[in-house]
Amino acid sequence: MTLDREFFEEMPKAELHLHLDGALKPKDIWALAQKHRVTLPNLPEQTQDALQRYYQLPKGVNLSDPEAFNRFLGMFKVALSVMQTRTSLRDAALAHVMDLHSRNYVYAETRFAPQYHTEGGMSLEMAIQSVIEGLQLGYERTRKETLVKPIVCIGREANQETSLAVAKAALAFEQDGVVALDLACNETLYPPELHKPAFELTFKSPLARTVHAGEFAKTPEQRVQNVRTALNDLKADGLGHAIPLPGQADLLAHVKRAAIRVESCPLSNKITRAINGDLRELALDVLLKEGVLVTVNTDDPAIFGTSLADVLQAVCRAYGFGKEEVRKLMRNAVESAFCDHDEEMRAYFAFKHKGLHLLSDEPDNPFNQLG
Ligand SMILES: [Zn+2]
Repeated sequence: MTLDREFFEEMPKAELHLHLDGALKPKDIWALAQKHRVTLPNLPEQTQDALQRYYQLPKGVNLSDPEAFNRFLGMFKVALSVMQTRTSLRDAALAHVMDLHSRNYVYAETRFAPQYHTEGGMSLEMAIQSVIEGLQLGYERTRKETLVKPIVCIGREANQETSLAVAKAALAFEQDGVVALDLACNETLYPPELHKPAFELTFKSPLARTVHAGEFAKTPEQRVQNVRTALNDLKADGLGHAIPLPGQADLLAHVKRAAIRVESCPLSNKITRAINGDLRELALDVLLKEGVLVTVNTDDPAIFGTSLADVLQAVCRAYGFGKEEVRKLMRNAVESAFCDHDEEMRAYFAFKHKGLHLLSDEPDNPFNQLG
């Protein structure tokens, strides 16, 4: 049975890999710029139309083309420009939750790199506090229907001092809701081992670790090596992308044994040309069959002009997946969430009470224990 568009739009959703700056919609960026009197960089004129046009990557764009890539980086710059003060960053996080709520998300983990929010004088800690406040406000404003937990990212171009400072700041907010530390951005120039000292700080803490690895690297071997380093040296509990994973028996065994979650980002990989264009290169069917905790995610939906509904629909088309596989992907997302057990149960509950009862006909469904 082919699932129609309505199914993907209306189904309750959980996502574990999206970036706040890459997820903030142009309409929200515009509203924030007006409210907080920010002049947006890179735009020929300060109008909402110009912003919308800037945010439209041409169809079939090739991000390995330098001009297109600069535009791609420029969009992040525009988004970050409206998130440089405590109130504007809090408002951005709130707008993000409201956007996810309108798309029927019940749970998400959104990452952001505090080092990119210090231009207006905020400290790393102030940036983290602002995001936590915005996400909490969003949770309340959505009548507790959309829970979004923050992941703190190290932008990997950071020097050792900043890298350690970001990890310490993330640890300081573990009690206040930060669920994990992540490593993101340019994997080709900055391999994961550079940030081992920062990740080591979290080894004896409840903070989880996720690492962008196996997305971009100079050679296929390096891409595999980065996944290995993320698992062995950075002790990752989650892997962002991990494109070469299905072809590596030892890594696959490690991921299964240790219940490491895999945050696959199919349309992101297609648009950035991290894969050749065929989503089947990610072998999501193999990962599901192997029992890997694989999830599908948008990564930077506003930048790519995509949504989780688009991602799920594209994956279903490419692999011939139906409701059963969609259910499994969503279930993997909730089960491998980094939030605490009560929150995980609440996310399950939210699934149960949202229209399609996606998970409710499974015999071992944890809903049953909740009555
Ligand atoms: Zn990412």
